[in-house]
Parts: sequence; C-alpha cells; structure tokens
Amino acid sequence: MADDRFDSIIVGAGPAGITAAKDLAAAGLSVVVLERGQYPGAKNVSGGILYRQPTELMSPGFEEDAPLERPIIEQRYLMLTEDAMLGGLFRSMAFANPPYNAYSVLRAEFDRWFASKAEEAGAEVYPEFTVTDLLWEDGRVAGVTTGEKDGELRAHVVVLADGANSLLAQRAGLHREWNPIDQALVAKELISLPAEKIEDRFALPAGMGAAYEIFGESTSGMLGYGFIYTNKASISIGTGALLHDLIDSGRNVNDMLDRFKKHPAIAPLLQGGETVEYSAHLIPEGGFKRMPQLFGDGVVVVGDAAGLVNPVNREGANLAMLSGNFAAQAIIEARARGDVSAASLSRYRELLDESIVLKDLYKIRNTTDFAHARPHLFNDYPKMMANAAGEYLKVDGVSKKEKQQKIISMFKSVPKKQLLNDAWGAFRSLT
Ligand SMILES: Cc1cc2nc3c(=O)[nH]c(=O)nc-3n(C[C@H](O)[C@H](O)[C@H](O)COP(=O)(O)OP(=O)(O)OC[C@H]3O[C@@H](n4cnc5c(N)ncnc54)[C@H](O)[C@@H]3O)c2cc1C
Repeated sequence: MADDRFDSIIVGAGPAGITAAKDLAAAGLSVVVLERGQYPGAKNVSGGILYRQPTELMSPGFEEDAPLERPIIEQRYLMLTEDAMLGGLFRSMAFANPPYNAYSVLRAEFDRWFASKAEEAGAEVYPEFTVTDLLWEDGRVAGVTTGEKDGELRAHVVVLADGANSLLAQRAGLHREWNPIDQALVAKELISLPAEKIEDRFALPAGMGAAYEIFGESTSGMLGYGFIYTNKASISIGTGALLHDLIDSGRNVNDMLDRFKKHPAIAPLLQGGETVEYSAHLIPEGGFKRMPQLFGDGVVVVGDAAGLVNPVNREGANLAMLSGNFAAQAIIEARARGDVSAASLSRYRELLDESIVLKDLYKIRNTTDFAHARPHLFNDYPKMMANAAGEYLKVDGVSKKEKQQKIISMFKSVPKKQLLNDAWGAFRSLT
C-alpha cells in the first residue's frame, strides 16, 4: 500500500500543538495541524502570563517579533474579604530589565504568531477543522476524522493537543471521563483602558506590567482565585474555582466575576474601562495524580489535554510548550526506528519525567486535595487576618496592649490543633 500518511497529525493549535508541529517540521517530518478555531488562538481565553525562558527555548529570539504586551515587574498575592483587601507584593527592578522573567500576552495574537513560526518551519496549519473522532487500524490510532466526507486524514502518530477536557484522549482510551474535581472553570474579561491610566492605577513605569492573584471573596471563598493582569492598553481580569465546588454551591462564574469586578477594592482599577471580550474556559487542575495515560499505539497527549498545569505557580502555557517539544523528540526517534508503538512512544513520558514538568507537578501533587479539604483556608483565615489588621491599624483610644490581646483572642478562636494542622499540611503539600 502506498504510504499516504503524514508523519504526524496534531489536533489543536495551542502552545502544545504548535511547539510539537514546529519541532517535527524542523526535523523534516510531514506535519498537519487541525484547529477548530477561525485561527490559532481564536478560542483561547488564557489570562495571559507567558514566561520568557521556556518560550525562548522553544522559539529562540521570540522577543524580537512576537506580539507581547508588558514585561511583568510586580506580582501581588492578595486576600479579599467583603470590605477589605490585604496581602503581599514583590516588585523587582531586576524583572524590569532584559532578560525579563515574564510578559503579559493576548493569546489570540500570540498563538496566531506562534503558529506562523510552525508554518515557516514547514508545518501545514488548517484552522476551522474540528476533529470529531480518531481513526483506528489494527487496534492502533491511525488518523483523525472531521466527520465529513473527505474529512479523514491518516498519520503515523496523532498528537492530541486539544486542550482541557480532551474528548479525544477519552476516545483514545487514555482517560476515563474527566471529573469535576479535576477541572477549574474560569470566566475572564478583557477590559480596554488607556496605557497611562493602567500605569497610574497600578503605579507602573511606562510599558511595564503587574500580575495580581486574589484569593477569598474573589471566588466566594471557594478554592481558586481571581486575577488581574495588565496588558498594553487593556486589563485581563478573571476568576474561577473548581467545577466540583461551583456545582455543589450552585454558584456560576459569570456572577462571581461580576461581583469581583464590583468589589470596592477592585472597581477603581477598572473604572471607565470597556469590556471588549468575554470568555469562560476550563483549566485542568487534577495534577500529577490524575493525569491520563500519556501515550498509546500511534498517539500521544500533550499540554492541557494531558492535565499538565501547575495551578500553584500559574504555569500552563510553558508546560504545554515543553510537553509539545518532548512529544516531538519522542516521535522523531520513533519514526527513525520505524516503530510508533506505545512502547516506542513511551520515550515521551521518560522525557517528561526527567524534566521540570513532571518534577514540579509531582512536588505539588497533594496541594489541591489539601486545600480542597479545608474550605476555611479561603473563608475564615482571610476574614480573621483582615479583622486583625483592621484592629491593629485603627486608632480609637484603645491601648495597644488591649488591641494585642484582642488580636490574640481572634486567633485563639481557632483550635490550636487546626492551626498547626493547616500550617503543617500546607508546608507538606508544597514541599
Ligand atoms: C482563564 C485562564 C487563565 C490562564 N492563565 C494562564 C497564565 O497566565 N499563564 C499560563 O502559563 N497559563 C495560563 N492558563 C493555562 C493555559 O492557557 C493553558 O495551560 C495552555 O493554553 C495549554 O496549552 P494547550 O496547547 O495544551 O491547549 P490550548 O491552548 O487550550 O489549545 C488547544 C487548542 O485545541 C483546539 N481544539 C480543541 N478541540 C479541538 C478539536 N476537536 N479539533 C480541532 N481543534 C481543537 C482549541 O480550539 C485550542 O486552540 C490559563 C488558562 C485559563 C483558562
């Protein structure tokens, strides 16, 4: 039989799929990418922090011509109660000079640019093609179909880069149905604001950016967080929580985002801005313990489809790129051996295991379970700390000694065993 197969078909033109496509094409393999959006990035709703170092590894010199928004020089971690906000910030002038640590990006623009790099390397990228199912031959994945006449394409290896809640990974038998505890649902808006207003409100030097992550009231106390990232002339704002908790509490993310935007500590940052984009999306947060099988005969799973997201450190796009790169390496080696069986493609998992991707996900493997089992972390503690700070800062004729005692008694209202248990549990789950 004449071999009319591509070396690889990639489903999804996000950072995982495009990195795999670029690397495979650069190695001289025939690659086609099918993307359901109107263009790569059209369906993406990422908050938009992109780390420089991994992106530079995947696309050397990207800062010269990639559409980037602002280098991030400040990170804030904040806690919100109904009427207060408190927290910590890190601003570094080292982050304000090249080489930058991270940029805000608009993924609709970045992904489109990134896909053009894969095309330059020789990959064929076809938007507006939705893969509906896999093709099988002799018990192995042998291609994909769009469900239409002439919609069948064959390949030696299919790369599933179709993002969170991958239906195709299930079709490939690599994953059971995704569980609501494994996914966060996030609503996000892009709000346009003039650059000078952004710089004034966030106290930023011209052209520089900030990233805020905000816990507590931003998610109605559920496990998750709100975020605000500054772009050149817009703000990305969003909030989300585990799907399981949203379903359980009957809350929806749209209302949660509206409440977050109206909070008296947040609203002034957005005032006068105009919402130019709204979207909602899943983030796989099941982590190391709930990853699917990552390879099979003629198939590998990368990026969000494989659950490769680090929610603690807000890393998804970089892990997606790295996984695409490792998948490409494994496929190149497998094609050179003429063996694309699961055993041969298991090299992909080996490369991931040796990398920061799985080392980091392994390190935080218990964090979600730890935090989910303790709803008071994002409910009671922010309120207690805000009350303590309010008491401490208020000048009201009460002596400092009395204030100190009041604050101590606030903390004493929490059983000592619980405090120790939470502190120890947090330490254990993060180290
Ligand atoms: C609100 C939000 C904020 C985030 N913020 C950050 C952040 O600040 N920093 C960070 O690093 N990560 C962030 N992430 C995570 C990050 O967006 C993902 O980890 C990353 O995009 C994963 O890349 P991917 O290529 O695996 O999947 P995606 O980027 O989701 O790409 C998958 C692609 O597959 C396409 N597709 C899906 N099904 C099909 C099909 N059947 N046929 C054809 N095409 C298909 C989709 O249209 C999409 O283009 C955020 C995510 C969300 C939702």
